[in-house]
Amino acid sequence: MIIGGFQKLTLIDYPGKLACIVFTSGCNFRCKYCYNKVLVDPKWIKENEQIQEKEIFDFLENRKDKIDAVVITGGEPTLHSDLKDFILKIKNMGYLVKLDSNGTNPEALEKVIDLVDYIAMDVKAPLNNQQYSQITQVDIDTDKLKKSIQLIQNKAKDYELRTTMEPNMTKEDILNIVKDIKGSKKYYLQEFKTTNTLIDERYENKKGLLKEDIEDIIPLLKESFSFFDIR
Ligand code: SF4
Repeated sequence: MIIGGFQKLTLIDYPGKLACIVFTSGCNFRCKYCYNKVLVDPKWIKENEQIQEKEIFDFLENRKDKIDAVVITGGEPTLHSDLKDFILKIKNMGYLVKLDSNGTNPEALEKVIDLVDYIAMDVKAPLNNQQYSQITQVDIDTDKLKKSIQLIQNKAKDYELRTTMEPNMTKEDILNIVKDIKGSKKYYLQEFKTTNTLIDERYENKKGLLKEDIEDIIPLLKESFSFFDIR
């Protein structure tokens, strides 16, 4: 695994668990609003110091009674061919594993889905190639995303789907996403937060929809999923 970041404690990234976070390097998307440029942009990846797996496993060896879980995020973790081995090692130490993914690699997800305790997948736009590509700035086959969603819905032990209400997203877009993923277990809408963005610096001054802007569709959102929330 090529690891570009390691956070020793999080109280919020794995629901109800104390966890650490492993950030893998490299992503096949270039989301305009991405705030992880040291993990995504090759120029920044080069300058970012890599973290050795040994450092993480030594840490985990000493924290067995203090943390419950490891969150593997990115970048995009499924780009790494040794992801399964990495997860297996963590599971063999007795930790829970949460995996964050953009859903572009259902084949890789299938290989690890039985091992992972919680999967979080981004649904960045309605599932049509044109709208999705506008956000991710790469050509995309949304059939792959649909396959990942089906796989997660049918096989994941626990999971959430989540959408960031990025500045160009409309209420209609949200309603279309809901149609695409209706019947899923947990769905979160995330308010857009301006940070050190990846490519489009203009996003730093933009605002997305807030909870109060979508009050009228919240009942529908609650009906469509076993659990729905805005964060
Ligand atoms: S926000 Fe987009 S570009 Fe950034 S890590 Fe996630 S999928 Fe990759």
